[in-house]
Amino acid sequence: MLIEHYDLKVFTPPCDPGAERFSAFAELAVDISVVLPYLNATLRGAVYHRAANALTWKKGGHNLAFHAFQIATSNVEDYEAAVKEIDGLVKLINRTWERRSEITPDYETRHRPPLMTVYKLLPQTNCKQCGEPTCYSFAIKLVASQKSIIDCPPLYEPPYAQKLTDLQDMVIDAPTIG
Ligand code: SF4
Repeated sequence: MLIEHYDLKVFTPPCDPGAERFSAFAELAVDISVVLPYLNATLRGAVYHRAANALTWKKGGHNLAFHAFQIATSNVEDYEAAVKEIDGLVKLINRTWERRSEITPDYETRHRPPLMTVYKLLPQTNCKQCGEPTCYSFAIKLVASQKSIIDCPPLYEPPYAQKLTDLQDMVIDAPTIG
């Protein structure tokens, strides 16, 4: 187990007193830098900054950051959810570290594609088959890795073959752990 203990701090951002959203930090006694390339290889939409020794990830509308001795989450709805989120991230790191022999570490830095570029590659019919009211709202979730390309069935029809290929080259769409 990589992380055995951590100190938890939960607060509302001082720049926004009275805000209903919470942030939480886990201060770690161990350096988790070694696990970041494995998270980069397995977390859909993760952005790894090798030089900064950091990895960011969006999950369920929360902004997550992994640093050498710290894990952080923000935009969480309440205290209990923040505690649960951090606990889940610690478990994710430990699980990924235990599985590292099965994972090829990825040291590349990827960037999220521009929203409008992704939107323009969608069919723009607002057919709602993806569960979203519009292609634009689907594009927002696709860029944030909250949706996958396969959630848009029309993209797999012949007229959209080139757009599908372009999207697959652009959008990070790897399997998610857990
Ligand atoms: S399924 Fe595809 S085409 Fe239909 S609304 Fe969603 S993104 Fe647009």
